[in-house]
Amino acid sequence: MSGIEYQQGELLGYEVREYVLQKWGRKCIYCGAEDLPLEVEHIHPKSQGGSNRVSNLALACHTCNQAKGNRDIREFLSGKPTVLNRILKQAKAPLKDAAAVNATRWKLYQQLKETGLPIEVGTGGLTKFNRTRLGLPKTHWLDAACVGKSTPDRLDVAVEKPLLVAAKGHGVRQRCRSDRYGFPRAVAPKAKSFQGFQTGDIVKATIPQGKFAGNYTGRIAIRFRPSFRLNAGVKPFDVHPKYLTTVHQSDGYEYRFSK
Ligand SMILES: [Zn+2]
Repeated sequence: MSGIEYQQGELLGYEVREYVLQKWGRKCIYCGAEDLPLEVEHIHPKSQGGSNRVSNLALACHTCNQAKGNRDIREFLSGKPTVLNRILKQAKAPLKDAAAVNATRWKLYQQLKETGLPIEVGTGGLTKFNRTRLGLPKTHWLDAACVGKSTPDRLDVAVEKPLLVAAKGHGVRQRCRSDRYGFPRAVAPKAKSFQGFQTGDIVKATIPQGKFAGNYTGRIAIRFRPSFRLNAGVKPFDVHPKYLTTVHQSDGYEYRFSK
């Protein structure tokens, strides 16, 4: 990316802007300001022979950009040699992450193609371009539908929120604990279930009275006494298994809707 010339089309504009934002840490290179609109500017002005390469682009807040105006960076920062040197050095360095990704991505792509599955590649800039084109808000789950060239021209989103599925595992399989010298500890392994319930089960709780009276649905963690920990979106609390009915037996995943 750093070597290419950038004035080619709308999509490339997105790619370049994302790259420049990433490279300079989304901050004004002169005063360090962030969380305000940043302008992409030329380090060496074009009017003084500065190139059209991405390596000649940096980020500045409006105030600093105005103050610099059409001057060369060496002139603008003549009183601040430390800042000047830092910027000139960073301008030449390609993104470290990008370098690491560049070294592996085509190999990865080739290997994926060998699976025979339809594979396509995209970029963060393309994702943002598609998201903007489709008028979608910035969320991870909607971005997942905007990756790659095959993103359709029209996208009807049928749900308001995604179902979040998180791998939670099946607990430990180790049947014997060892002490710090590696000798087995004389503790019998605990059973995986208690009173017909298992940690990770999704249950319905109907609690007739008391502080937590009401109906809840959530995930339980069992204990070997008749009070289980119920996580139902509110602060987890203890509940007696007699108030619980199983909705879904633990399969190693947690399911919930985002807020
Ligand atoms: Zn600034």
